[in-house]
Amino acid sequence: MATPALCPSCTDTYLETTTCHDEELDICRSCGGHWFEQGEMNKVLSKVDNGQDQVEYQQHLGASIGVSERQCPDRHGPMQSHHLLADYQLEIDICEHCEGVWVDSDELNQVKQSPKLQQALGSLNQALSWKSRVFQFLSQMPVEYNIKPKRKPVVTWTLMALNCLIFMSYVGNPELANQLVSLFGNVPAATLAGDQLWTLASCMFLHGDPLHLLGNMYFLYVVGDNIEDALGRRRFIALYFALGILSSLISVVLNWQSEIPSIGASGAIAGLFGVYLVWFRHASLTFMIFIYQKKLAPVWYFAIWVGLNVLGMMLGEGGVDYWAHIGGFVSGLIMGVALKPYIFMRNPLLQMLAHPAAVVNR
Ligand SMILES: [Zn+2]
Ligand SMILES: [Zn+2]
Repeated sequence: MATPALCPSCTDTYLETTTCHDEELDICRSCGGHWFEQGEMNKVLSKVDNGQDQVEYQQHLGASIGVSERQCPDRHGPMQSHHLLADYQLEIDICEHCEGVWVDSDELNQVKQSPKLQQALGSLNQALSWKSRVFQFLSQMPVEYNIKPKRKPVVTWTLMALNCLIFMSYVGNPELANQLVSLFGNVPAATLAGDQLWTLASCMFLHGDPLHLLGNMYFLYVVGDNIEDALGRRRFIALYFALGILSSLISVVLNWQSEIPSIGASGAIAGLFGVYLVWFRHASLTFMIFIYQKKLAPVWYFAIWVGLNVLGMMLGEGGVDYWAHIGGFVSGLIMGVALKPYIFMRNPLLQMLAHPAAVVNR
């Protein structure tokens, strides 16, 4: 090339040749933008993706959104702006003449991860199926649309198995059940007096009836696997117990005169709802009224859930520890927000999916 390439963004800086994943490309030292000449983008994407497949980014390119203000560095005139993917509306500029691609420095990671983003958005944007409608109609439980965990959610499965085994050990024996509830259930008045403090944690592993158990275990299965994957196994155990104990404490303080033992994993799981809502805003949970089913963002799904709890509390419907639910949920929201920077640093894909450029169809 006879004349050096000019940065399309700074317009007064020349581009310098460098290497990215063993491919030569031009960068601007001033703004950090990258210029991929024809074919270089596909080679870099192929290497980042898995090193074998030929990635053809043009196949997944989003809509053209008009003529860019930026000029082709190789002097072919104004470039065209495009969305990176149909469902990821990040703008990149392409020269239609030489097929070079200009990427700003802060967009480089998203461009490099675009095959993964494409795949993730494909699973998030799946349309509702008749199977999900039948499942929810029969079970009255939501269907989740989220990315698959990278690792097997061993802790979530273990907690589910543990809760079921404990329940089965006393389900046919009312006398034993009563003994266990009085020994391991959380009685606010007693706990406040300093008696049987372990019940703040042990009450999480007892359930009153099969529906109570199944409902809790299903929600643990839905939200637990993604949270465990994002956080790591040991930290997930710590989070689960912290949320359970916090929700028990809040229940003790707000039901301070109560002599009724509180049991169930609901408080800890309500805490996971709060965490899930903060980290997985791209996910969807289905909501059903009669036979009409709709995908909802977690924020709406859990807003309805909190609303039902507040309603139940106001109507004075007994048998449910509403304060443990709401206390757990608020604790989860706070922990979710506090841990969010760490989680997004550990899981760049989650951060990219939380970016406004990601389009989630609901
Ligand atoms: Zn520049
Ligand atoms: Zn050009």
